[in-house]
Amino acid sequence: MTRFQAQLPVYYWEEPETSDAESAPSLRVRSCTSGVTVVTPQLPSGLAGEARETALRALLDDFVGRTPLAVRWYYTPMMLGFSRHLSAQCTVYDCMDELANFRFAPPELIPLEQELMALADVVFTGGYSLYEAKRDRHANIHPMPSSVDRLHFAAARGDLPEPADQQPLPRPRFGFYGVVDERMDLALLAAVADARPDWSFAILGPVVKIDPADLPQRPNIFYLGGKDYADLPGYVAGWDVALMPFAINEATRFISPTKTPEYLAAGRPVVSTPIVDVVRHYGGLAGVRIAATAEAFVAECEAALALAADTHGNWRTEVDAALADLSWDNVASRMQALVDAAIGAKATRAPVVPIARPRNTHYDYLVVGAGFAGSVMAERLAAGSGKRVLVIDRRPHIAGNAYDHLDDAGILIHKYGPHIFHTNSADVFDYLSRFTEWRPYEHRVLAQVGEKRVPMPINRTTLNELYGLSLSTDAEAEAFLASRAEPVETIRTSADVVVSKIGRELYETFFQCYTRKQWGMDPSELDKSVTARVPTRTNTDDRYFTDSFQAMPADGYTKMFAAMLDHPNIDVMLGVDFADVREQVSFGKLVFTGPIDEYFDHRYGKLPYRSLSFRHETLDQAQFQEVGTVNYPAESYPYTRISEYKHMTGQVAERTSITYEYPCADGDPYYPIPRPENQALFKRYEALAIGTPEVVFVGRLATYRYYNMDQVVGQALATYRRLAEQESAGHDVAASVAAE
Ligand code: FAD
Ligand code: UDP
Repeated sequence: MTRFQAQLPVYYWEEPETSDAESAPSLRVRSCTSGVTVVTPQLPSGLAGEARETALRALLDDFVGRTPLAVRWYYTPMMLGFSRHLSAQCTVYDCMDELANFRFAPPELIPLEQELMALADVVFTGGYSLYEAKRDRHANIHPMPSSVDRLHFAAARGDLPEPADQQPLPRPRFGFYGVVDERMDLALLAAVADARPDWSFAILGPVVKIDPADLPQRPNIFYLGGKDYADLPGYVAGWDVALMPFAINEATRFISPTKTPEYLAAGRPVVSTPIVDVVRHYGGLAGVRIAATAEAFVAECEAALALAADTHGNWRTEVDAALADLSWDNVASRMQALVDAAIGAKATRAPVVPIARPRNTHYDYLVVGAGFAGSVMAERLAAGSGKRVLVIDRRPHIAGNAYDHLDDAGILIHKYGPHIFHTNSADVFDYLSRFTEWRPYEHRVLAQVGEKRVPMPINRTTLNELYGLSLSTDAEAEAFLASRAEPVETIRTSADVVVSKIGRELYETFFQCYTRKQWGMDPSELDKSVTARVPTRTNTDDRYFTDSFQAMPADGYTKMFAAMLDHPNIDVMLGVDFADVREQVSFGKLVFTGPIDEYFDHRYGKLPYRSLSFRHETLDQAQFQEVGTVNYPAESYPYTRISEYKHMTGQVAERTSITYEYPCADGDPYYPIPRPENQALFKRYEALAIGTPEVVFVGRLATYRYYNMDQVVGQALATYRRLAEQESAGHDVAASVAAE
């Protein structure tokens, strides 16, 4: 822990060791070169239960003295019994495993974990699956998947002296290191060893909780015992392929094995059983082979051997790219920031977002709107250029249309309909990643057509299910669509773009009525860009989006916005309209993210926007529908779609909350309506904006563009960069409508 290590002593309290029955309880204290002091209680044998806890508590109190701790950091709830009385500025629960699922887990583990969850200011989980399992147990919980000391393991890619006990093993060699316990699939290991007697299997690590006599004994399996971390690269250097023959059981459901990136950093291809987090984080790499059965495991070991021979192959480049950003220092600094924030929040009891009356002060910028456009601009101006910024919003909350909150049933819902984050822009994703962790999520949508629910966007499965076909290749699906498509000379409208690709029947089934409901007009009256948002596929990809980054903010959008606006130079006022404060606040420049026509008092008439009304419901059932959103394209339904949030957020709860969307003409302006005449009207307002250089117009409403969230973030970042460049070039900031 960089800062803590640098400034404060760090003690690591180990599990007790047993000394002889006569000796008094004592501590063994060792200083390590890392700067950490390891403290190991020595307890007389036979000490158990309450007496054991009392002895540990006395040792701990003696050791800590009266100095209050900065942080108490629990890596197991089992330590709580003798330490719960200690005071500390911050309590961290670093949850590394679903320990309760382990063999011989003590019964008090579950209540102790509950107590620790209630006490902890911050909770970390050693992987995403564990995070998903625990995320509704704590408000400040963050996934911290395993990282790797790349340099340490990369040594295995070069020549290292072979440890003596591994030298006799014939090649090819397959290796495993780690604790050998009920998490290991010993039957699988035996079956693979039997299938290939010419291969050697090196198993390194202590045997725990299982009788060594139960380990499969084969001439080609070699149990070499526990090794020091420092010696592991030397062993791995002598393997061809690394193995993770984990059993798929309760004890492995939530593991996120640290050895995966270590094996890869050591340059070895990996063969693993389908552990959820391994498949999730590494399953896409050619160098990580997944196999569920002994037969498949042997086949994947063969494939991995072939890769191992190709040390300069693409698979290595791909592995190195995947590992490039992994470092324990990164994990440590993310953890440290969260611990610092928790300490800060406790010390000041300040709300997460500083909400202030406008001070008797001058602001460099007044930002109207606390949605993506306004919040990104405010953050950049404050943190990037040191400006003093006041952000206002007429709504009683931050986050604009992306606002989410817990409903009465404790389910995280989106007040203004489902918001799914997706982007191809690494810049946008990296920028937002400063303010949030992410939960990987790929949105899937089904369309209700008669009695059937079929994938939307239309793909090969949709066609097969709808027409009882068995199209099995892209080419067959393409030919099917081509036979139905109607040629359109110039593609201008939202009808043209669909009919020319998939023909009238599919257009009517999926697009025409949906669009009439959504927009209050026929697709032939809308610009082609509207329905072109939804592609048609000839493969079986059933994701709604294909962007390279698809994820939801791990703790929701509102938390992400709170982090963005949490800057000493930013004040936020909610529930106030620009009209109410424009004369009262002293400010230099204005960033306006509301409707552009409203800013100019509708001088040329109103720009049309489409609105929605939302019906939010909570149901007494765990799940309502099989995917995040079901679309209802038929006219007989007054709504366009129903979305169920738990799919998106991963929240686990007994009840579920859903939202129906009913399009309407009047209400909050949600959608600019892409039509040539509306664009022409907008251009007139844009001309006014260009003539108003002291105001910057950014965002979906201020630039009248049907933009997704990522596009608005990209637009705001580009606008800020332009402002900063102009300022550094010494120009008066001649702002205008944001660049596209
Ligand atoms: P907004 O979020 O609208 O923020 C503007 C803010 O300005 C508002 O909070 C408003 O109250 C405030 N304001 C306006 N005028 C004034 C004033 N005079 N005084 C004070 N405050 C004012 N995008 C995606 O990427 N993925 C999705 O899945 C997705 N789903 C969507 C679903 C729905 C139903 C809707 C409507 C939009 C969806 N979007 C989605 C688009 C996304 O909402 C927008 O791209 C994004 O929110 C635009 O951000 P913004 O800051 O420009 O505008
Ligand atoms: N659309 C449709 N049928 C569908 C889905 C979308 O006709 O099942 C059309 C409709 O006009 C919609 C547009 O495609 O407004 C864009 O869809 P998208 O899902 O991108 O809309 P958003 O999420 O922005 O409301």
